[in-house]
Amino acid sequence: MLRYTADIRSLVFISSAILLKAIFWMYGEHPFVWLIPISYLTFLCFIIKHNHLHCGMFKNKKYNRIMDYLLTLLNGNPATGMYVIHVLNHHEHINDKEDWGYTNNVKYQWNILNLIIYPIITTGNFIKGKNKFLKEKGNEIFQTRESREKVILFSFYILLLIIDPLQTIWYIILPNLVAQMIVVATNLLQHDVGNRDSEINHSVNFTNPILNWLTFNNGYHTIHHLYPELHWSLCPEHHKKYVKPHIDPKLDRESFLETMFKFYIWPGKRFLAENQIQE
Ligand SMILES: [Zn+2]
Repeated sequence: MLRYTADIRSLVFISSAILLKAIFWMYGEHPFVWLIPISYLTFLCFIIKHNHLHCGMFKNKKYNRIMDYLLTLLNGNPATGMYVIHVLNHHEHINDKEDWGYTNNVKYQWNILNLIIYPIITTGNFIKGKNKFLKEKGNEIFQTRESREKVILFSFYILLLIIDPLQTIWYIILPNLVAQMIVVATNLLQHDVGNRDSEINHSVNFTNPILNWLTFNNGYHTIHHLYPELHWSLCPEHHKKYVKPHIDPKLDRESFLETMFKFYIWPGKRFLAENQIQE
């Protein structure tokens, strides 16, 4: 049924997310305490959706479509919209001016400001770009698919809001928004440095095994752009073979936390006029 047995892990995380969200929605107290863990789980569902949109989990197309709907409900975000924004636009343009997530849309010298402002500006650009794309001739199939997902999504969320508005806002809608902002901010981290015209040196990679276990190998970003349909479980070995020998070592980083600190706290400056990491 599954194309890769590694996706048993994806299914376990999806089931856990459904179960935990349902339990918190019904019985949850202290939403401030739980906002971060639930948002992390939702963020993981975004990563699973990203992986699934590139390389469908199931051999059967209908099952893949059902998974699209399930992940649409879990993230509060239509799978087809993400497909258009990420697979069709971002992978085609990789941070050039046609990329709706172009990182040079933010240019503060104090880099943490870019990290805060970028997801807000970029989310607006995503919606504008996607809606324009869906209205263009020849893209009706995507428009129909997204409309169907939206009908199911909005019906489900309105029902939840009617039954319990506060629990729905705290445990469903807010974690979705936080996770969405983190997903968009990740694009800044992965693409704001490096050379967008290079075949290899366009993305920052994180090779820490724990981080990659927890994020379905999302740290291996260069290989993902080289082979977008490659299953996530195969990224580490392909990274070693095709990326590591050729990439600028500054873009092949072990620690995510150390990089976050250097990029956004200290020195935390935007070293990006030349799109180079200077350290
Ligand atoms: Zn991708």
